[in-house]
Amino acid sequence: MAKTIKDKREREKEVVGQMIALYCKKQHQNRQELCMECKELLAYACYRSDVCPFMETKTFCSNCKVHCYQANMRERIRQVMRFAGPRIILYHPVLAIRHIVETRKEKRRLEKEGRENESTKNDKESHKKGA
Ligand SMILES: [Zn+2]
Repeated sequence: MAKTIKDKREREKEVVGQMIALYCKKQHQNRQELCMECKELLAYACYRSDVCPFMETKTFCSNCKVHCYQANMRERIRQVMRFAGPRIILYHPVLAIRHIVETRKEKRRLEKEGRENESTKNDKESHKKGA
């Protein structure tokens, strides 16, 4: 169990690291390594990942309901995600697909939990209104 969570943390860091690297390369024209700004952002993201108390129940910080990022860091990581999110699949397909699968799984699980919590209310969910 503990190993799984540790793996999760490492995977999250890996994905974030690749996204920041891609962002820096394309947006900041850095070929060899990250610029200071992006290094700082990556260090921050890894730190947040390390101290995240929700690692067991979530797959990724972007899915997390508790937005623990500082406002300015959140804005920066959001820019990175917006840029690198759609592109990462071209550069790191395995990583990206694994992340998409895990994100879907988690969403489904959260939805299921939500449904179970109000199962009496949503008894007739199949009878949807409209067309
Ligand atoms: Zn950069």
